[in-house]
Amino acid sequence: RVVVGTKVDQNHVNWVTAYNMLTGIRFTVSRTNAKMDRELTDADFDAKHKFSFDITGNELTPSAKYDFKFKDYAPWVFRHLRGIFKLDPADYLVSLTSKYILSELGSPGKSGSFFYFSRDYKYIIKTIHHAEHKFLRKILKDYYNHVQENPNTLLSQFYGLHRVKIPYGRKIHFVVMNNLFPPHRDIHRTFDLKGSTIGRDFREEDLEKNPRATLKDLNWLRRDLHLELGPTKKEAFIEQMRKDVKLMQKLHIMDYSMLIGIHDLEKGNEENLREKTLKVFQPGGEAAEEPQPNQLMRTPSKLETARKARELRQSVKTQKPVPMEQTSARMPDELEDSKKNFFFYSDDGGFQATHEDDRPGEEIYYLGIIDCLTHYSLIKRMEHFFKGLANTESQISAIPPERYGDRFLKFITGVTKTKEAAEREKAEAVLH
Ligand code: ATP
Ligand code: CA
Ligand code: CA
Repeated sequence: RVVVGTKVDQNHVNWVTAYNMLTGIRFTVSRTNAKMDRELTDADFDAKHKFSFDITGNELTPSAKYDFKFKDYAPWVFRHLRGIFKLDPADYLVSLTSKYILSELGSPGKSGSFFYFSRDYKYIIKTIHHAEHKFLRKILKDYYNHVQENPNTLLSQFYGLHRVKIPYGRKIHFVVMNNLFPPHRDIHRTFDLKGSTIGRDFREEDLEKNPRATLKDLNWLRRDLHLELGPTKKEAFIEQMRKDVKLMQKLHIMDYSMLIGIHDLEKGNEENLREKTLKVFQPGGEAAEEPQPNQLMRTPSKLETARKARELRQSVKTQKPVPMEQTSARMPDELEDSKKNFFFYSDDGGFQATHEDDRPGEEIYYLGIIDCLTHYSLIKRMEHFFKGLANTESQISAIPPERYGDRFLKFITGVTKTKEAAEREKAEAVLH
């Protein structure tokens, strides 16, 4: 299984930020996990805790490679959310703090967000706009209640909300969430569907250059594709989507989409590529040194402090753009069991197509509703901005959240049908 991304190592422009994110997560998550579990209170939803890290360490925080400030939001709520989503607490820490850092997906969207994958590809860190951050805090209780009632939700699973700031740097807010795509299966096609046609076309000519590109609604329709789900799965899928969309309508959220990664079982994984990757990438070879937990707790020696100071100077020097190296990493062949509990992620981490008689189909879908932190007011503001700027029609078709949700539901429901049903409909259309 080959994963393309840019490895974030010491030469990467975002190395310090990424490193600090992981250090902060490790510290705050272990801190909360160390305590005895308890019921949530109203105050837990508003909680925030600030920590200062520096190279010498202090009574509250261990020494770190760099000076930075870290804020942890609603740690108890997220601990419980991780519980509902059945994450193993130790696993979570290992994934996000192993010494193989992260790979970066640059900024795939227009929003300017950055995406980082944990080294094992299970988790995504997404940097979010301050408005999205404020909004998530505001709706956290609604989200929590929804997830509690709907553990099979298709919405993004949020595992943590944090903020990091390096000296003289800006505040960077970020969430940790589930990677919908599996570490062990190739995704042959990716679609991001909103149910709108305006600007929802990826130039087919560019697909050759970029075969892994995320395609959109018009590309989907042009290919006459369907989410091939037989009656049983279709009903469960649409029922859950309906509930999730209802929540978003209530919270005035819009601009979300259904992300669908398709694994074609006939094509399978590109085994040849896997062999090649093994040779190129030697795990453990060039990974950065990361302090071990027991090392963190003791006072550093003079020598270490001097080394850290040297590294810090070095890191400041390397804060200029560097050529981005493409990297691939070897991924496990098997998926661990935790996802098996969740209906839409229980077929090899995804949702396998079925036929009219519920017989398994030829594809596995890895899907979910993503980008669900945009409040209607933000869209309106952006639209205003664009209108003022170009004095032309808006580039974003902003319709109110109620209609956005209805249109989304209608589109996804409309394309959810088995091969058999699609063929029958086509035959009938010819007759009439
Ligand atoms: P914009 O607002 O311009 O749409 P954004 O920065 O908010 O962009 P998203 O829409 O959240 O970004 O995601 C952009 C792309 O990143 C998706 O199309 C998908 O390829 C990938 N992506 C986002 N979330 C996930 C996820 N949970 N699992 C796998 N891939 C994801
Ligand atoms: Ca989006
Ligand atoms: Ca967005």
